[in-house]
Amino acid sequence: MALYVGVALVTAAVVIFLIQPVVKGIHASLERDEDELTDTEARKRVALLALRDVEYDFLAGKLDEEDYRSLKSELTAEALAALEADEAGRGDSGDDDDLETEIARIREELRSGTRCGACDFANEQGSRFCSACGQPLGDRIAS
Ligand SMILES: [Zn+2]
Repeated sequence: MALYVGVALVTAAVVIFLIQPVVKGIHASLERDEDELTDTEARKRVALLALRDVEYDFLAGKLDEEDYRSLKSELTAEALAALEADEAGRGDSGDDDDLETEIARIREELRSGTRCGACDFANEQGSRFCSACGQPLGDRIAS
């Protein structure tokens, strides 16, 4: 009886351990995506619109060639910086994918721990008997 209580406690702890980073990850990625989308998109938008205005102003004769060149190189540098920031943001998303892969791997290991030796059915974590054929799964957990 005490063993079952211990197994139940471990199971609960493992479930909390697995769920926590997923919930935190969802919140973190939502917040970060919103921030970075607005931030990098705003930067790119401003830089590209300003570049277009400079082109128009130059064509309309409002800017001399010297001003046009200096403004254009300044704004092009800003647009490139915004694009680099955007790519850096995507690099962060890659880390999230790694985390998800890690969680999936841990889940798969836990599942295989309760995989039925008789019919190979992948039972839920903490199952003591196979959901498909009713075989006890205790031996597999211990080994
Ligand atoms: Zn089975």
